[in-house]
Amino acid sequence: MKTNKFDLSDHRKKQLSEYAEFIADEYFKNTLVDPHRLAEIYGITSSFGDYGNAFDGMLEYDNGQFHVYLNSNKFKHKYTPRGRFTMAHELGHFLIDEHRNALEEGLAPSHPSFIDFSSDNEVELEADYFAASLLLPTSRLIKDINRRKFTFNLIEELTAKYQTSITATLLKFAAVGNHPIMIVCSVNSVIKWFKYSSDFPFKYIETRPGFKVPVNTCAGQYFYENRTKYQESEIVFAEDWFRLNYDQDYGRQFFEHCIYADAYNFVLSVIWEK
Ligand SMILES: [Zn+2]
Repeated sequence: MKTNKFDLSDHRKKQLSEYAEFIADEYFKNTLVDPHRLAEIYGITSSFGDYGNAFDGMLEYDNGQFHVYLNSNKFKHKYTPRGRFTMAHELGHFLIDEHRNALEEGLAPSHPSFIDFSSDNEVELEADYFAASLLLPTSRLIKDINRRKFTFNLIEELTAKYQTSITATLLKFAAVGNHPIMIVCSVNSVIKWFKYSSDFPFKYIETRPGFKVPVNTCAGQYFYENRTKYQESEIVFAEDWFRLNYDQDYGRQFFEHCIYADAYNFVLSVIWEK
């Protein structure tokens, strides 16, 4: 069942991840998945140029040919984690039948994609999850985290190994990892989206009016207390972040680990129970 408008149903995620993993294993069995090579294999041409702020990537269909535009204004080279993710996302639009058919039949215009995971548009969510699953296939992830305790370092380790962004790695971990986590993205103190593992104990954030970040959280300190930042994972209480229904939930301890991007007034919070 779909309970969060910022996420796909578990059923759809499973379908997409199995499909992406099948392709990853078909062409990159024991090696890092290279989405740019994959585009070549499928006969998709691409160009890497400065397209201003228009998009991160865009898949175009014209006269029987698919072409991907990658925006050099958004990443230095194609092989950065963001460049890899952008191509993998566009491949999702090509490889997911419904997306490709809509393009071929002219039902959907070539739509620009922004890789900031902010979308609650189903098509974009599907391409994002497909991309994360192509670059970091489920069974490889499960093997790597087997019997490992969850820490933020584990996410950084996976990020280095699979050349994925922190956000993509967290997205995948939330779906199939061995420890329930919640990810909250906020910009200018407003929550843009959140995603959680299906077994995360709380589903509702106690937001301030206007869907704003709660005050007594690490993210809140950044927005309301002069950009206070924490390098380490900090302890927060259940009542600081979540809407609680039972007395016994007060005082439950969680870790919050934040990643900051000052230029965008952006904070990504990862929250897990201590
Ligand atoms: Zn897209």
